[in-house]
Amino acid sequence: MLDGLALDFSLPFSLDFDLVSGLSSRRLSTKRRISDMRRMFFDESARLELECAEDPLVYEFYELGTPEDSGDISFGTSIVYPGRVGSEYFMTKGHFHTVLDTGETYLCLQGHGYMLLENPEGEWSAQELRPGTSVYCPKRYAHRSVNTGETPLVTFFAFRGDAGHDYGSIETKGYRKLILERNERPLVVDNPRWGSLKEMGSIY
Ligand code: ZN
Repeated sequence: MLDGLALDFSLPFSLDFDLVSGLSSRRLSTKRRISDMRRMFFDESARLELECAEDPLVYEFYELGTPEDSGDISFGTSIVYPGRVGSEYFMTKGHFHTVLDTGETYLCLQGHGYMLLENPEGEWSAQELRPGTSVYCPKRYAHRSVNTGETPLVTFFAFRGDAGHDYGSIETKGYRKLILERNERPLVVDNPRWGSLKEMGSIY
């Protein structure tokens, strides 16, 4: 039964997360459909086609209402569904933390994909996610989960309660790297439009 009441982070509590689906039976997830991802994929016309056809669910995750306090910990699961926009795999929007100097850790429970990371200085990394793999996202690194498999990519995450999410930087500039499907395998390529999304207007 879904619990509509706010969680009290000043008291001990427990929550369930299904180890296969990643979903909790007691909380509602936040859902991102393809219509919520305008200009996030390289091929905007392919994204628009998907939006008009069936507007598939791209990913969902849990926001448990953690107090925005440095002593609290935000946690939950993220589930990225399999699929592609053109040759680009389904992925999360990706974000920096508003408090840039805060890290995050992920544990992959199901599926196969990559955590794509980059910092403002241009250093980047694609860390492979398989069940049992834990990825550390250092402070200052934006992070995005990319599902390169055929089944849902399920991860469990935890980060400082007051870290906050800065989605705007990615929405404005994009990511420096893209992960595309080439010959049925994932390939990391430079994003030719990185940094110029504003100038490109609605194209990206
Ligand atoms: Zn984060």
